[in-house]
Amino acid sequence: MVCARQVKEPIPFSRPDVTGDEIREVVAVLESGWITTGPKTHHFEEEFARAVGARFALALNSCTAALHLALEALGVGPGDEVILPTLTFAASGEVVRYLGAIPVLVDADPLDHNIDPAAVEKALTPRTKVVMAVDFGGQACRLDQLLTLTRSPGIHLVEDAAHAFPASLEGRAIGSISDITCFSFYATKPLTTGEGGMATTDNERWAERMRVMSLHGISKDAWKRYAFEGSWHYEIVAPGYKYNMTDIAAAMGLVQLRRAGEMLARRREIARRYREALADDGAFELLSCRSPDEHAWHLFVIKLRDEALTIQRDRFVTELKAAGIGTSVHFIPLHLHPYYRQTFGYRAEDFPVATELSQRSLSLPIYSRMTDAEVTRVIEEVRKVARRFRR
Ligand SMILES: *Cc1c(COP(=O)(O)O)cnc(C)c1O
Repeated sequence: MVCARQVKEPIPFSRPDVTGDEIREVVAVLESGWITTGPKTHHFEEEFARAVGARFALALNSCTAALHLALEALGVGPGDEVILPTLTFAASGEVVRYLGAIPVLVDADPLDHNIDPAAVEKALTPRTKVVMAVDFGGQACRLDQLLTLTRSPGIHLVEDAAHAFPASLEGRAIGSISDITCFSFYATKPLTTGEGGMATTDNERWAERMRVMSLHGISKDAWKRYAFEGSWHYEIVAPGYKYNMTDIAAAMGLVQLRRAGEMLARRREIARRYREALADDGAFELLSCRSPDEHAWHLFVIKLRDEALTIQRDRFVTELKAAGIGTSVHFIPLHLHPYYRQTFGYRAEDFPVATELSQRSLSLPIYSRMTDAEVTRVIEEVRKVARRFRR
């Protein structure tokens, strides 16, 4: 029997944008006889550094690795304090603990969900070593204010730009502003290599320390000094990590980098359509956006106005799922997780803004492979749920 109602394909929350070019380049590496860190990785680093206007770029196997190496290179150690937003992913906080330092969480700005610079200022102590800014959803933090706050000697600004490539702030590319900037090429991120990351900086000393620590603490310089003894010679200068990128990933990254502008243009167009369709709907609140052209548009978050709806976020997500629309939540703030509550005694009311935002936010699908028809369907289904449950 034929069902009269047309069954529609579900729209996933995220889908990678991989073309024949990525596939061909990856296959070429597989056939080349050199599949781990090598010429492709070095080329990717050069091209990425050029794209963001940084002196140095270090390709790694994740953004988590980049954040860990950044803090290590800046000398973060046991008992030091790192200020970071509670409204972020697990990675931003755990790397602080890898080094035995204390994550000092701060609240979010209710308008753009980025770290609140006033809260950062209040959290500064003589033990503060690093302020870590997370560009929420792909929109840059108020980096100018954060740079002013971290101007004292011994304090540095690390940027978790996992969502923010390509993005800029008043004409300056993200990746060229903070002391060290860390990018993610995870499968759902705007530029993907499956798994991968990049650290950028203008400081040669930090770049060199991160490079050495990214591969077992083996010093290339020491290696060069003894080159006459043969290419097998190496020196371990510290107990490093194993964070290098493979040429397989880099080959994919080089193609994605070339396509980054085109993919961003598509996400920007989707964001424009969402804003036009949802901004005036009394059921939702959208994030403030300083400049749509400087935003990476990794996420499109809507916040439910509880006073306008009879259902809350979890039910809204379930209704959309039933209608075939995948969504996500960014994020469950760190201070609400058992580890942070139990270890540091954080309570929900310590960060009222992030707690409240996280309860009524959801993220809609936004990725370059979405078709116009899919965008239309997301808008229709979101409005339909809002209409059904309007107060
Ligand atoms: C995805 C993400 C990371 C971690 O990236 P990986 O490359 O998976 O390590 C870090 N911070 C934020 C805010 C993220 O969204």
